[in-house]
Amino acid sequence: MILTTGGAGYIGSHTVVELLNANFEVLIVDDLSNSKKEVIDRIEQITGKRPIFQQIDLKDKQKTFELFQKYKNIEAIIHFAASKAVGESVENPLKYYENNIGSLLNVMLAMKEFGVANFVFSSSCTVYGQPEKLPVTEQTEKKPAESPYGNTKMISEDILKDYAVANKNFKAIALRYFNPIGAHPSGLIGELPNGVPTNLVPYVTQTACGLRSKLSIFGNDYNTPDGSCIRDYINVVDLAEAHVVAIKRLLECKNKSNFEFFNIGTGEGVSVLEIVNTFEKVNKQKLNYEIVSRRAGDIEKIWAETSYANTELGWKAKKSLNETLISAWNWEQNYRAIQK
Ligand code: UDP
Repeated sequence: MILTTGGAGYIGSHTVVELLNANFEVLIVDDLSNSKKEVIDRIEQITGKRPIFQQIDLKDKQKTFELFQKYKNIEAIIHFAASKAVGESVENPLKYYENNIGSLLNVMLAMKEFGVANFVFSSSCTVYGQPEKLPVTEQTEKKPAESPYGNTKMISEDILKDYAVANKNFKAIALRYFNPIGAHPSGLIGELPNGVPTNLVPYVTQTACGLRSKLSIFGNDYNTPDGSCIRDYINVVDLAEAHVVAIKRLLECKNKSNFEFFNIGTGEGVSVLEIVNTFEKVNKQKLNYEIVSRRAGDIEKIWAETSYANTELGWKAKKSLNETLISAWNWEQNYRAIQK
């Protein structure tokens, strides 16, 4: 059985679908702080299989231990559960350290207590900051985090690294996500931002459906071909598949060291204006947008060197930007239709 913490969330739910499709038994633990229980029904609709669901807050050490006591057949854990709003983390850093580090420690302590060895961690390209040289490889130097959120990812990787040195039985893989976007092609699951979205693509889809009056593009005076920022946008289903590959690598003992980390991106840099133009073209929608000043804390450009993940994990992003932006729009429309 694979325990997915935060398995009802955006990346978690897509990964649970891929795990079930690969015939793994799945236990979802989620506190539903940023997700909805209906997601479990949707996962069942897509896969024909129902994952086990437990609503638990992993900050609660006793409840976490009781969970491992109850499910003795947990072979591996994918730890998605974390708060992820950069701006909120600046305003409320203790919430981020408590949630993201506290829950990680409780899960790792329970793993130690109950003899569970395999761990996949949701890390982020934020660990690289603004790199001097692009694309970034796994060897690119890490930079001090720009936000408490980013710092929790740095600290979490350090915790895994230190624990892996001290405990040879423990095996962990950190997946450094670039910018996950899009939704399952069924249109049944996707990103459900809380309140006003801060990420680009949910803001784009909510503008297209009339929920937001205008998209703000944060800056067109960067040192990039069209002046807007560049990111590496990875389809969420491709990203989900990387987790299945990582789990198999651990269970089949194919890992080369007991703490590994991989860049999970497409290897392509895409600008904000390219996202907007592609969205308009493939979905035949006109977006109301304006260029505004830069957003504090944004880096100018980043994209991944993915050859290590491609060769070593045998994983590669497959989906095009066109189909990814079609899936994002399809999801937004389906979701709004259900809400009515
Ligand atoms: N962005 C934008 N308008 C928005 C949201 C985001 O222009 O309403 C830009 C942002 O400045 C960045 C890119 O889109 O260059 C991706 O931002 P997002 O917040 O999605 O991800 P980040 O890379 O910051 O984690």
